[in-house]
Amino acid sequence: MADMIEQKYTAQEAEDRLKRLDPRTLALIGKLEEEHALTKGEYVELLGGMGDESAILLAEKARRIREEIYGKEVFVRGIIEFSNVCKNDCYYCGIRKDNDKVERYRLTDEQIMECCEIGHESGYRTFVLQSGEDGHYTDEVLGDLVSRIHDKYIDCAITLSVGERSRESYQYLYDAGADRYLLRHETADEAHYNRLHPAEMSWRHRMNCLSELREIGYDVGAGMMVGSPYQTPEDLAEDLLFVGEFKPEMCGIGPFIPHRDTPFRDKPSGTLEQTLYLLSIIRLIHPHVLLPSTTALGTIDPLGREKGVLAGANVVMPNLSPGQTRRQYELYDNKICMDDDAVQCRSCMDFRMRSIGYELVVDRGDYRR
Ligand code: SAH
Repeated sequence: MADMIEQKYTAQEAEDRLKRLDPRTLALIGKLEEEHALTKGEYVELLGGMGDESAILLAEKARRIREEIYGKEVFVRGIIEFSNVCKNDCYYCGIRKDNDKVERYRLTDEQIMECCEIGHESGYRTFVLQSGEDGHYTDEVLGDLVSRIHDKYIDCAITLSVGERSRESYQYLYDAGADRYLLRHETADEAHYNRLHPAEMSWRHRMNCLSELREIGYDVGAGMMVGSPYQTPEDLAEDLLFVGEFKPEMCGIGPFIPHRDTPFRDKPSGTLEQTLYLLSIIRLIHPHVLLPSTTALGTIDPLGREKGVLAGANVVMPNLSPGQTRRQYELYDNKICMDDDAVQCRSCMDFRMRSIGYELVVDRGDYRR
């Protein structure tokens, strides 16, 4: 991995590596690069062929294709975690309803506007408003906030990530000025979904939300956790098929990380290796996709976000939330940047991207069709 970070290996080393790669995995990578799709069985095989050689080869191909479309630019989104109140009880999530150890908060509109102001000054041109599913935010309340931001920052994109709502609600928020919507599908397999969520939540409903968002005209972000409990290679293969079919404009993937106060407290984290491998595969399936190198990836490895970009990601999402509340929006244990502020997060990310030869840009960072 150090080699990969520094990209220092010689042509001879690259050739030797190819020789060590088993022919079947090599063939699957070749097919994926050419056709941007494999069958479910082939994805399972490719996942089974994960190793240093295949990971390096996939990452090289993913970087090349990403640079053809997005160059060395890395898009940056400022995430504002504006409420940790949630009516859902997802078994993996630290702010689930039943976790009574969390101190709940809601930022005021003024606090949110202040986050945007600091963000705009430090070069953000996309604001991501994320929260639990908080009933306080009716269409009117959230719509007012969206249009306030939209009117004041006309050069910025507004992304919402506030969970499942009705079609009318999505339409209302779109009309108020929201451009994009992040709603990870979490898993493309219904039975697996049902092992991660209580019975009152429905996989079909979530998938339907994604279709409605698309129909309304949002740029849509799907995605899943890597290594979530009970996940099988077949489940991941389903996720990859879904990405290839639905072609979300964005795809957020990061490792599952347990949270001490959830039913999944004793489950192991997803791995760095598998997350990077999947980032590269997704880049090859869907070359134009906006692919974030996530905070969760930076949490399981100190250079996780750099490695994610080197595996084909092209987006980072530093935190714009104000100091104290960062600790209260803890989806998983040991989330990074708890003690930093927005300006520090931006310059830290600037430095990190430059250290690997990439560059953060002051830009809305739209999907390139
Ligand atoms: N309420 C919104 C936002 C959810 S939080 C919604 O429903 O979309 C954003 C994402 O964090 C989730 O979609 C989930 O994939 C991820 N997440 C939650 N808990 C996590 C954990 N323990 N480890 C890793 N990622 C987690």
